[in-house]
Amino acid sequence: MTSPFLTRNALADTDNLALLQLRRDQIVPTILRDHDDENQGYWEGKVTNTRFGSFPHSTLIGKPWGAQVVASKVDTGSRGRNKSAKRKAEELDAEATTTGAEEEKKKPSLRTPVSAESGFLHILAPTPEAWTISLPHRTQVVYTPDYSYILHRLRARPGCTVIEAGAGSGSFTHASARAVFNGYPGTEEATKRRRLGKVCSFEFHELRASKVQQELRDHGLDGIVEATHRDVYEDGFLLGDPKTGKSPKANAIFLDLPAPWLALKHLVRNPPPGQESALDPESPAYLCTFSPCLEQAERTIRTMRKLSWLNISMVEVAQRRLDVKRDRIGLDAEGVRGATVYPRTVEEAVAKLRSDEQRAKLIRDNRMTKDQPDYQPIAKETPFYKEKTDVPAYAQGRLTHRSEPDLRTHTSYLVFAILPRAWSEEDEQKCREQWPSAK
Ligand code: SAM
Repeated sequence: MTSPFLTRNALADTDNLALLQLRRDQIVPTILRDHDDENQGYWEGKVTNTRFGSFPHSTLIGKPWGAQVVASKVDTGSRGRNKSAKRKAEELDAEATTTGAEEEKKKPSLRTPVSAESGFLHILAPTPEAWTISLPHRTQVVYTPDYSYILHRLRARPGCTVIEAGAGSGSFTHASARAVFNGYPGTEEATKRRRLGKVCSFEFHELRASKVQQELRDHGLDGIVEATHRDVYEDGFLLGDPKTGKSPKANAIFLDLPAPWLALKHLVRNPPPGQESALDPESPAYLCTFSPCLEQAERTIRTMRKLSWLNISMVEVAQRRLDVKRDRIGLDAEGVRGATVYPRTVEEAVAKLRSDEQRAKLIRDNRMTKDQPDYQPIAKETPFYKEKTDVPAYAQGRLTHRSEPDLRTHTSYLVFAILPRAWSEEDEQKCREQWPSAK
């Protein structure tokens, strides 16, 4: 099976994941079905209900990605919510049974017409970024600003093998699967010539491990991600049996664990006799650990040093969104400077913006009413740059900005390190034979 996270058709397909975007940061994931797989009992087949209305999947399947879809009025009666519709359902079901048309009953019905309502959404193709916003949270997750930086520092690229622990809610898993994807297996010959790219994911919480395995199957990523139920502190990172299993030959490792230092003993070049190293012997290993507090980061760094990891560095990703707008500061309507209009400075403009927003919030929450002295109605102002004037927009005011502090990132300390590949006399000899001038 192919994955819509990696390659996709132009249209939303049955049995594939689709992301239903209600607002910029509000996305509902759903597997598109042409039948009522959840036994919801709607005539229309499977329906996704949102605060902006109901969306039968019959109105979503076959839409181009990015299309706007209007909500539908659905028949909620067929499981007893509306008696007359229930009776109608029973009559039609009986009719279908007597005519032997059992299959007819399962199909999205055209018998109850779907009519348009006011709400709408956009149907989006799955991407790791949109999945991170919409996924069901089972744990804290790694957000896009962090994982894009982590994958860049880990040199994750097509053909790499990444070890990840713990899998948690699978946010990082999806992003790393896309980063290492190197095409689907083709002919045997082609597959031999290139590494396909792989994520070896470990999770010790049994339910979370089975949920992430199911999700990966639903998303067609189980060929790229091998998710194992395992306590990595005890049992390390070999595939299959913890002692005698196969090495994943990892090039990059990401540890999002409460005590990453306890797992580092399993990421060495010289494991106990009879056991393979989990690392790729032919490349350096790039490591990142993700810890919310400094004491954890320090402890990890101390263990990294003891185990010969090099280039150790710590980073905190502190991304802020900036809201930029043009404000008429110290200018009148004609753009004349020095006029005594309010606000006169950038600070005054920001203070005015804040107090307007606070007042609007108090009015919305019914905490400020008309009889209060500082009440002013919330006016929907036309932005001044839309007023009719010959003064060009750039001359009408100055750009001011405020940062939006509530961007969803679970900030942690990222500790990076590199373990160089082992270099033997034999490797040196091979190198000399291959590049005689390097002597
Ligand atoms: N990176 C994940 C994501 O982006 O969705 C979130 C990981 S969550 C913060 C940490 C996970 O590590 C938890 O699900 C926990 O069960 C798992 N974990 C804790 N100790 C572990 C261990 N010894 N071996 C494997 N997994 C472990």
